[in-house]
Amino acid sequence: MMIQSLKLENYRNYDFLDLEFDPGTNVFHGDNAQGKTNILESIYVCATSKSHRGTKDRELIQFDKEEAHIQMIVKKHGVPYKIDMHLKKGRSKGVAVNGVPIRKITELFGIIHVIFFSPEDLSIIKNSPAERRRFIDLELCQLDKIYTHDLVNYNKIVTQRNKLLKDLEKRPDLLDTLSVWNEQMISFGQNVILRRKTFIDELNEIIDVVHRNLTGGKEKLKLVYRPNVEADQMRDTLIQGCFRDRMAKVSLTGPHRDDLEFQINGIDVRHFGSQGQQRTAALSLKLAEIELVKNRTGDRPVFLLDDVLSELDTNRQMHLLKSIEGIQTMITCTGLDDFVQHCFHIDKKFHVSKGMILDEI
Ligand code: ATP
Ligand code: MG
Repeated sequence: MMIQSLKLENYRNYDFLDLEFDPGTNVFHGDNAQGKTNILESIYVCATSKSHRGTKDRELIQFDKEEAHIQMIVKKHGVPYKIDMHLKKGRSKGVAVNGVPIRKITELFGIIHVIFFSPEDLSIIKNSPAERRRFIDLELCQLDKIYTHDLVNYNKIVTQRNKLLKDLEKRPDLLDTLSVWNEQMISFGQNVILRRKTFIDELNEIIDVVHRNLTGGKEKLKLVYRPNVEADQMRDTLIQGCFRDRMAKVSLTGPHRDDLEFQINGIDVRHFGSQGQQRTAALSLKLAEIELVKNRTGDRPVFLLDDVLSELDTNRQMHLLKSIEGIQTMITCTGLDDFVQHCFHIDKKFHVSKGMILDEI
């Protein structure tokens, strides 16, 4: 897969932008707050419909404007696709693929697969379980349409069931409908759990090798899926927990409360890992995803690397840059020193300044 071109209109600090990319390594360099991350973010938004930072659509639109436009021409298995995305304040976004509007945003998933790595990815390891579920969902939705369907439906049902649990106090006559929601929640929930399990198993096989390479064989990294409830126990646990749910007025059982643990040599990195170990684990996770996408789709994803080179030691930098050989990569940095020092190969350079590209070489 590769991205041929990107056009932006009224996106963050860009009035207009029109870029052609190299199929190899593209570097965006410039001072702080000039718009480097914004370019990578717009690519991620156009590919996945969401910002990697979890930002709302209206914040992506330039401050005084009502709409923003992102257009990408991408190639998958050699076939070109044109993706047009209109972001609108206060309304849902519109997306067209090859000029034809799509009905559901899920139709966008899988056209182009992008993997984003930035220092903020440490939050996957350090922050709340919600962050780790977001990671699983963002990745799996790009890879697995059935998962997306099950997850979207599951989330809708949890929202509706939670509303019912709140309404029951005033409307006890609605209690009979609870079992209808239970059945649907079990059916979609079990699928979500099983697919997450398979995804983590697959990632584990890859991440083991990746992390050993990154750490010179010293560390073994393992992902441990911690489902709130096992798929085959979901029915019993949910039904037995109905009274507790009614008291709490919220659904307490199901994959919306899952977690994922990162273990290095058997120890939980979140609580006991050093900053560097956490950072390396996050990097291994992203590199493993590249391999997983290759395995599942037979094509290479596009890799977006925001500001990471300065955060990694020389060994890890070298390993990272070796791992991205043959993959289209967009890298941001403030200066080109790291590249020059380590003789990294750059195919195209973009100098970013105040929401404009000063020069491309
Ligand atoms: P750094 O090197 O510090 O990471 P950067 O070049 O990656 O910087 P970006 O995060 O891409 O910088 O861009 C930041 C700029 O974009 C800021 O100046 C900010 O004010 C501007 N900006 C962010 N959102 C909007 C918006 N909705 N409309 C206009 N400008 C915005
Ligand atoms: Mg930035």
